[in-house]
Amino acid sequence: MKIEKTSFNNYVEKNVFDTIGNYKLIKPKEKIMIGVSGGKDSILTLHMLHNYRLKNDIEFDIEAVCIDEGIKGYREKGIETAKDNCKKLKIPLTVYSFKNEWNYDLDDIYDVYKSTCMPCGVYRRYLLNKISNSHDCDKIATGHNMDDEIQSFLMTFARNDQNKFPKFSPILEKIHENMVPRIKPLWKLPEKDVGIWCVINDIPIHNEECPYSVTSLRSDVKLMLNKIEEKKKKTKENIFKSFEKTFQIKQENVNLSSCEYCGQPTAKSPCKACEITEEINNIITGRQF
Ligand code: SF4
Repeated sequence: MKIEKTSFNNYVEKNVFDTIGNYKLIKPKEKIMIGVSGGKDSILTLHMLHNYRLKNDIEFDIEAVCIDEGIKGYREKGIETAKDNCKKLKIPLTVYSFKNEWNYDLDDIYDVYKSTCMPCGVYRRYLLNKISNSHDCDKIATGHNMDDEIQSFLMTFARNDQNKFPKFSPILEKIHENMVPRIKPLWKLPEKDVGIWCVINDIPIHNEECPYSVTSLRSDVKLMLNKIEEKKKKTKENIFKSFEKTFQIKQENVNLSSCEYCGQPTAKSPCKACEITEEINNIITGRQF
């Protein structure tokens, strides 16, 4: 099927700009930190926020941060792609690694837990918040697309973790003094359209699968959803619509406290990052890096 570039670009921009506008994701004079991995979703977020600033009468600052987990042979290419795109758009980029913070790479601890994605996700969220706070940012923009959101939604059932329902929103409000609110400008954009946009606009992206992704529940859920969608079109859209209508629970019902060790916002102290750091340190003591 031939895709007409201008009308497709207009569709993508309208989808993302409507989400930003309808949900008031960005206010004038704010400073937005974009988490950029180099993958298609974060690169599209970078370009869309840049375009939104150019094409709308609103002044706001944009910065980017790339978290280097320490995945040899994989993350280096993502960092290069993030640097290339940020340079082209003149957006300042900070690269910060797990090693800077905890003195080990993800490669050093990949086998501590059943899924490598668990410590990786906890640490990345922790650093994103910490760095955005230290840069005085008002919001963190992430590249979560519609498919990611549907997968996360189904994963809460698999884990019997309904506490996560308030996260299904394009904006996660500030509910703790040290929490930088999150926004998801691609919230209503299907993943396949993110990929098409990058290809037809010839945007450099890092398109490899993380070697640890096979250990995640997310990759199984994604596979299952794609299979169902192949047979029955609009399944994903219907799931999205049903949770959009039914399951958004007010975030003011969520209480966060401060971690007794690091001061970061958490549902219970110590926070997950401090908890797993202690476990990891106990396990890896004696390992040679
Ligand atoms: Fe981290 Fe898992 Fe993502 Fe790899 S797939 S970068 S291990 S969260």
